Amino acid sequence: MKKRYLLGGALLLFVAWLAIPPLFLEPPEQQKTSAAAIDLPPQDQTLARLSAAVRIKTVSPENPVDFDPQAFRDFHAFLEQSFPLVHSKLEKQVLAGHSLLFKWPGRDETLKPALLMNHMDVVPVLNPELWQHPPFEGVIADGHLWGRGALDDKGGMMAQLEAAESLLARGHQPERTLYFLFGHDEERGNPEGGAATAARYFADRDIRLEFVLDEGMVISDGLMPGMDIPVAMIGIAEKGYMDMKLTASGEGGHSSMPDAGSSIERLSRALTKLYDNPLPTQMMYVRMLGENLKYYMPYGLKAAIHNIDILGPLLEKGLASDSTMAPFMRTTTAPTILRAGEKSNVIPPMASAVVNFRIIPGETSDDVMRQVAEIINDPNIKLEKGGVSEPSPVSDPEGAAFKLIRRSILETAGDEEMATTPQLVTGATDSRFLVGVTDNTYRFQYVHITPDLRPTYHGRDERIAVSDYAKMIEFYVRLIGNMDGMQ
Ligand SMILES: [Zn+2]
Repeated sequence: MKKRYLLGGALLLFVAWLAIPPLFLEPPEQQKTSAAAIDLPPQDQTLARLSAAVRIKTVSPENPVDFDPQAFRDFHAFLEQSFPLVHSKLEKQVLAGHSLLFKWPGRDETLKPALLMNHMDVVPVLNPELWQHPPFEGVIADGHLWGRGALDDKGGMMAQLEAAESLLARGHQPERTLYFLFGHDEERGNPEGGAATAARYFADRDIRLEFVLDEGMVISDGLMPGMDIPVAMIGIAEKGYMDMKLTASGEGGHSSMPDAGSSIERLSRALTKLYDNPLPTQMMYVRMLGENLKYYMPYGLKAAIHNIDILGPLLEKGLASDSTMAPFMRTTTAPTILRAGEKSNVIPPMASAVVNFRIIPGETSDDVMRQVAEIINDPNIKLEKGGVSEPSPVSDPEGAAFKLIRRSILETAGDEEMATTPQLVTGATDSRFLVGVTDNTYRFQYVHITPDLRPTYHGRDERIAVSDYAKMIEFYVRLIGNMDGMQ
């Protein structure tokens, strides 16, 4: 009897030890920043220019033969006309045919330069008639600027140019040299394209960059479960990519006499094994989110994160079964193409599948090949690597450039309460081509993405809030200003 009381008491104490400390979590002071107001270009003019940028159809087509170089030439001419100071005071280079690199020489040549980048190409529009406003007209309505590229990624590109132009108009010259890179083929993921050419440009001149800031992460506004305030996510790494081709061979023949072990059967079993055995999970990025955001979360989540070391395995299992969390925890497996059979009464001797893997940093495409071979465990299935891009290195979530970006975000947010956190980018950006010339690559754009807006990336009704576009410009103005004296 006594023993039971003791046990009960110990359990109570343990629960209290887990449950009470999270009640007293307060956001760290560094999360709160205020800054003086700054001059910004008139909003009607910046909107008019973004609208004009959307109207020029700089599309990266599905098939490269459909590429329209004239649209890019028109776009360059439009930029020249819109940003005269950028074009007269900065050194401009055209790379890989249509990408643009601008150099803004700094006052102190001993400092390593920084690079801000975005891309000028957009994905095609499949069903323009389904859009609320035509995709290539740059209509301003309902507090938004509508059109392909508004978010991805002409908004960011034009905002960087607006920031540079307005700082130049005030006679600003940055302390460290600043480059701008605007790729023309990001949406094609071209390994020989603008970003790769820029990387070679820097490498050939022995230029190491202090940091690179690209698109890739945004301000989550209602996307993150348990967070009532917007969360600015700063990408510190991005996942790799691999297409793996699985080819099964087996006895073909007449479908009236099916035999065990046909190619389709083998392939189906292999794919089922892949579905049933997802690749291993890791908690690094979940921990990072938790550590930075726990202050703002409801009690239950707060307590779970505060006690992550104890609850870890349980939490890991629970989160990994959530399809929005899993990509941040593991290399994901997604069969995307299946091919087999030509005729309904013939069993095909060959069947193939393409499986797309998004590789988490810390693993390589070779690791994935090996794990998949073990899971499938069938010598009659041939595994081949298709297109591969290895995961990026992980940049410092505490480094000077990270702090510079975070500070500029919080200053731009002003009175709006906002949390910030380093995070993993699950897609791919052009910045991956530049990891050889810098140790610090970050991915962030100052734009609030709500559940409504998320599907508009590469989708229908792409648009940017007018208020966000103004803030995006402000963010870059502050960032470039804050770069001076950056430690
Ligand atoms: Zn993009």
